[in-house]
This record gives sequence, structure tokens and C-alpha cells, in this order.
Amino acid sequence: MTWFEERLYDHWRQSFLVEEVLFREQTEFQDLIIFKSRKFGRVLALDGVIQVCEGDEFVYHEMLAHVPLLAHGAVRDVAVVGGGDGGILREALKHPIERATLIEIDPGVIEMCRRYMPGISAGAYDDPRVEVVIADGVDYMSKPGRLFDVIVIDSTDPIGPGEVLFTETFYADCKKRLKPRGIVVNQNGVPFLQDEELRSTHAKLKGLFADASFFVAAVPTYVGGLMTLGWGTDDPTHRQHAAAEIDRRFQAHPFPTRYWNPDLHAASFALPQFVRDSMARGTS
Ligand code: SAM
Repeated sequence: MTWFEERLYDHWRQSFLVEEVLFREQTEFQDLIIFKSRKFGRVLALDGVIQVCEGDEFVYHEMLAHVPLLAHGAVRDVAVVGGGDGGILREALKHPIERATLIEIDPGVIEMCRRYMPGISAGAYDDPRVEVVIADGVDYMSKPGRLFDVIVIDSTDPIGPGEVLFTETFYADCKKRLKPRGIVVNQNGVPFLQDEELRSTHAKLKGLFADASFFVAAVPTYVGGLMTLGWGTDDPTHRQHAAAEIDRRFQAHPFPTRYWNPDLHAASFALPQFVRDSMARGTS
């Protein structure tokens, strides 16, 4: 029996019983491995950090896509920064959007996830509405170009190539690429273990947007309890819709889900007190 040990933290590790290593290579950007686990199906890890598991990816991808898109209510253009596994694309394309632009630094992630974990993108890359740009997200957003109603920053953690996607410069450039009423969301880790990341992101988003906060989801393989997803927009009403309004919008183009629902959507903006206290404490 072999085990894959995640080394995101120097004081806490999780291990997966490995049934088979399907692929492993050092790409130009990161150490990429895809293996078959006993409990969570096929798993992608980058630089030793769990990125996506077939067994629980629906939680993260449904929340990071459907909450901003239905809160906004009239999304036509979506950008996904990172997200090479295709899960956010898959969920965003369930909405009546016109275009989804994926900006991914590592083509190896797209290629290997399409080959060894095709269920994650589930054909999204063949959708005519999808445009794939192989680039560093920080470079892409720093230049003038297409404007977006929603920008989803589906990045690795702030180590390695993902580090630049947690900077104020990057968030400010994303804001320049938003249409009026636009929303930026990001994966912002597990506050119980990554409090500094939470406080840092909140301080940066608060300095740029009229409404900067988080929403939460419980992703089993992102260990440590609730995961916070960052939220920035100049339209505070986006976060204030009751479940009934979200459901009205959803019913216009319904589709099956396994985690997201209108009640959970509305409730996901309710934050644990320790998260609120961290936000109030800021980075001082
Ligand atoms: N769901 C995962 C999580 O919450 O940690 C993220 C999964 S997705 C595989 C992360 C993607 O971000 C990877 O494909 C990685 O190559 C990409 N990435 C990292 N840094 C990037 C950058 N600077 N620009 C664009 N993509 C980047």
C-alpha cells in the first residue's frame, strides 16, 4: 500500500491511500501528479497540494461558479483565472452565458486533466463559448482587453505560480477588466489554518471594492473546516438577495446540482464569528 501525503502545512498533513499513479511530471511550472485514490476517485495535486478530487469537486466548483453568476443575474462574460481542470468552466457553461475565457498558465494541467480526469471538465473545453488563453493570469489582467461580468480566480495557493494571484496589483487589474456591476471571486483557503491569507485578501479587496467579503463551503479534501471564497464588487446588492429571488432566477435555467441550492447560496455569506473577527482585525 502506498500513500500520497499532502504537504501544504508544515504542522498538519493529510494522506490518501493510492491505488494507482496515473501520471506524474515536473511541468515548466509545477510538479503535477494524478493518482487514483481509494476514497476520492482520481486526484490532481500540484507541488504536493491537493487541487481537485473526483469525489468532492462538485462542492467547490458549484459554489465558486453558481453563487456569483446567480447573485449577478445577467452574466454574459465570465473569466476563469487558473482552473485548468475545467470544473469551473463546466459549471459556468450551465448558465446562459455568451463566453467563458479561461486563462491558465500551465497547459500541462489542461492536457492531463482532460486525459486522466475527463469528468471534471465534462466536455467544457469543446464548448464553442470557451476561449482558452495560455498565460500568466497576472499578465493577462494587466493589459486592456475583454471585460467580464464575473472573474473567478480558481488558483493554486499563494505559493509558486499562484502567489501573484493574491496581490493587490492583480486584484486592481481584475477590477479594471470588470463591467459595471461586475464581481470578482477567488479561492481563499481554509481560515482556520490560513488566517493570514484571509486577512490579507480582505484588506486588499476592501481597498478596491465597495463590498468585500467572503462566502463559505465545506470541501472535505481542503482540510481544516470551512473554506472561504473571496468576494469583491462595487454593487453590495449582489450579496443581499433572499433565497427566493435566487431560486426565481435559477428556475429560469435550472440544472441538477449536488451541493449548491438557493437556500445554501443565501446562507453561504453568513460567516463564523472568528472569520468576522479576523476581517475586522485586518493586517495590522
Ligand atoms: N480548486 C483548486 C484550489 O482551490 O486550490 C485550484 C485548482 S486549479 C488546478 C489551479 C490552477 O491554477 C492550476 O491549473 C495552475 O496551473 C493555475 N495557476 C497557478 N498560478 C497561475 C497563474 N499565475 N496564472 C494562471 N494560472 C495559474
